[in-house]
Amino acid sequence: MNRIPLIAGNWKMNMTLYESKGLVLGIHYAIKYPHDVEVVVAPPFTAISFVSGLVRSSYIEVAAQDISTHDAGAFTGEISGSMIRGAGCRYVIVGHSERRQYFFETDDLINQKMAAARTHKLIPILCVGETLIERERGACFNVVERQLAVALSGLQTRDPLSLVIAYEPVWAIGTGRTATLEQINEMHAFIRSTLAGVIDPVFASQVRVLYGGSVNSKNSAAILSLGDVDGALIGGASLRVAEFVSIIKSATNN
Ligand code: PEP
Repeated sequence: MNRIPLIAGNWKMNMTLYESKGLVLGIHYAIKYPHDVEVVVAPPFTAISFVSGLVRSSYIEVAAQDISTHDAGAFTGEISGSMIRGAGCRYVIVGHSERRQYFFETDDLINQKMAAARTHKLIPILCVGETLIERERGACFNVVERQLAVALSGLQTRDPLSLVIAYEPVWAIGTGRTATLEQINEMHAFIRSTLAGVIDPVFASQVRVLYGGSVNSKNSAAILSLGDVDGALIGGASLRVAEFVSIIKSATNN
């Protein structure tokens, strides 16, 4: 099975409704039907329903940036999987490093969020990655292995399209400092071999593993040409139509 590249834009806490419209329609008009690439945007919760409506008849899919572990009830500020699904999302980002860092999300909580995504038939884009201190002390592989093992514990599915992994070294997110091609290659191969152990080798060879961390229109072609890289999760550069479109185009050329 061919792994179709996936280019996902994480808008984080950016984009009013008005700005969302300009961005998503800009992408849609710049690329009418992209060849052999899947495109996902992750607006803030306030814009999901609006953006889903705008892209309904296009190729663009919508993701939420987070999901509650709860299905409903007295959990002020939380958004459940059924709400996300009902608002038009197919994907949900789980365990982004900013959630781990600023909102103290643990591997166990992320495992529960993975279960919530499954319950509501949302495809999780599970983010893993080490901090700079962890890389410098030589612990990056142990950290990523633990993050994968705990987050995926209890995963029943063997459908490789039901999961996406994003390797995002924390030190490369929003810093302008991209991991080297060698570091990316090495970690993506490691993630695939870990998935072979945690799930099974066929699943591991078919699941998509994205890279994230200061991807832009200048470095995307080189990163996306790596054998074990199946797309990118993009923050800053996904907020500008021309940048994001050029990254999508660099995925289609590979
Ligand atoms: C991200 O937020 O997932 C990300 C990769 O951000 P940036 O592209 O800005 O580094």
